[in-house]
Amino acid sequence: MDRKHFLARSLQAIAGAAIAGPTLLQASSCSIPREAAGGSAPPAPAPNDPLFTQVKLPYAFAALEPHIDAFTMEIHYTKHHAAYVKNVNEAIISEGIVSADEAALFATASKLSPKARNNGGGAWNHNFFWQVMAPGHSGAPTGKAQDAINGSFGSFEKFKDAFTDVAMKRFGSGWAWLVAHNGKLAIGSTPNQDNPLMDVSDLKGSPLLALDVWEHAYYLKYQNKRNEYVAAWWNVVNWDAVAARLG
Ligand code: MN
Repeated sequence: MDRKHFLARSLQAIAGAAIAGPTLLQASSCSIPREAAGGSAPPAPAPNDPLFTQVKLPYAFAALEPHIDAFTMEIHYTKHHAAYVKNVNEAIISEGIVSADEAALFATASKLSPKARNNGGGAWNHNFFWQVMAPGHSGAPTGKAQDAINGSFGSFEKFKDAFTDVAMKRFGSGWAWLVAHNGKLAIGSTPNQDNPLMDVSDLKGSPLLALDVWEHAYYLKYQNKRNEYVAAWWNVVNWDAVAARLG
């Protein structure tokens, strides 16, 4: 191989490595060895630093109509959520962040850069959010979820009122949550893209249900009427997913 040919092949290899980065970030695993991430590899690759993956939306953009409109779902999933996933993975690679998994990463949220914390939360929270909604649900829990909610809050109506109140009172952008903590269920909210797995969160616990109250989640259809969005959202809560997380 002459020198000119060799250089051309080397440049192709470099270009290939550059392209491999973002492609790998979309792979199905959320734990990709650092050395697989191409040119950004540090001297000592860690086996378990997590990169985030955007889950496949479990239903069509229009599936939650009329409660959540298709255009909002499409922008929310393909623009907002996709950007959080891309940006957190950039931060993980460029900052050399190493943690065993997402829970371990969030347990050190207070030490993360704003880019890693905000986009990591955004990536995880939306992956969770898509899965606790589904079309064709009755709007009320049954079985194990019903028993747990009645046991902790007295009745589904009391739970619904308390959760709605928290969602309405979250000033600005954030999330409302139902969590399991120390053997009990609790309701609370987090600002921005924080979540109850983060050490910075006042609300602690294992998430069972989440509601995105960022304006991007409802503004196209509901404008400033967050109350109408929250009221409609109860029609698409996937109580089977909540029950499955109760264990
Ligand atoms: Mn959102």
